[in-house]
Amino acid sequence: MRFSAATTRKIQSVFLSEVENGIRQRPSSLQMENTYIPELPDGTESGLFLALDLGGTNFRVILLELENGVVVKEDVKRYHIGADLRVGCGIALFDYLAECVSDFVIGQGVQDIELPLGFTFSFPMIQHSLEVGILVTWTKTFNCQNVVNKDAVLLLREALERRGDTKVNVVAVLNDTTGTLIQGASQDRNTAIGLILGTGSNACYLERADKVQHWETERHGEKEVIIDIEWGAFGDNGVLDFIKTEFDRENDANSLLVSSFTFEKYISGKYLGELTRITLAKLTKEGLLFEGHAPGALLTPGNLTTDLVSHIEQDTLDGGSNNTRDVLARFGVTATEEDIAIVQYVCEIISNRAALLVSICLATLLEKIDREESTIAVDGSLYKHHPRFEGWMNQYIHLLAPGHKFKLMHAEDGSGKGAALVAAIALRLK
Ligand code: ADP
Repeated sequence: MRFSAATTRKIQSVFLSEVENGIRQRPSSLQMENTYIPELPDGTESGLFLALDLGGTNFRVILLELENGVVVKEDVKRYHIGADLRVGCGIALFDYLAECVSDFVIGQGVQDIELPLGFTFSFPMIQHSLEVGILVTWTKTFNCQNVVNKDAVLLLREALERRGDTKVNVVAVLNDTTGTLIQGASQDRNTAIGLILGTGSNACYLERADKVQHWETERHGEKEVIIDIEWGAFGDNGVLDFIKTEFDRENDANSLLVSSFTFEKYISGKYLGELTRITLAKLTKEGLLFEGHAPGALLTPGNLTTDLVSHIEQDTLDGGSNNTRDVLARFGVTATEEDIAIVQYVCEIISNRAALLVSICLATLLEKIDREESTIAVDGSLYKHHPRFEGWMNQYIHLLAPGHKFKLMHAEDGSGKGAALVAAIALRLK
């Protein structure tokens, strides 16, 4: 799990070639999807906007008031989407989304106002324009029938029309990653990359429009466009298999979608805890940990979550062991000093590999876009809460993209604020 310099360079060159293949529409594990967002916020965005955020931990409806590109007022309501709706009939899901929109809009007393809506739909889509997003596959905890290969915007519009009790107009579809870049750009004009490090992971960047081959709408002299990499799937075609360890194979085998979203399984919040658990279980089985006696709880997939890895990593930073003991006690383990050191070491190796992999790809992007200065807008709990991730990323990106000035910036709530800004940009383009 520790990469040599040669392996690091190889990953960098494989990623670059997948990026270039994807953008030229040649076979690649990277979708490199055109988002049709050709402009960043310019500080003129004003008015009332709705944002709908589906695909994160919560489903949210948000009313935002923008004044000169800045959110001056925000009201949000979270709605629960039950398991039956998540895996049921697609029409029922979209009817429920429309019902939540109505409930919220009427609750806010704005049902008679024309409200442009930005729909954050954080699933892999093929976009034909800023307001057409065809679902490629469901991911995370969703698997509704009759939605794959259909336009999520059309399904939402039809559901809103069936109710007919609001004046909501869906004007743009985006995902959380794009929203993060846009939200970042409203704070810092140098923002050129958007990154999510949460349950899943993905990145997008500003590409020169003349390099993008997939373009279905009429062109209006756009100079740049945001490309959604969908890097969670990097390596699904086998190009990254040279880094796969036995622990990764087991992690993949235990996952919901085997052999899919390969890269995400090395780096995202959904998997780092499980990878750690698998590694600790294996070391125990070999008699190297806990005197060879693994408690049942440690042998159960899904039992060690990534927040616990962060908790243990905090000990390593502080030179302590209280957090590690606390986590192990939850598993019913009384650990020796040596056990503690090994557990901390495993958490470090797995977290560090993830930070290095993300940095390798970001450094490749920085070299590719080759700007004087680039800001990378980031959101997601793994980035926000892991005590060492950001530090490692700064260190590794500097090493791997020497001479490229960059800044990591936390862009809070790209899927809400970013969606409102994209809706405003969509109106400006009309
Ligand atoms: P989402 O990506 O689902 O919109 P988040 O950005 O909150 O939402 O990410 C949730 C993921 O972050 C979960 O996989 C969780 O395990 C992970 N996570 C939560 N807290 C922490 C933490 N303290 N350290 C590292 N990862 C965390």
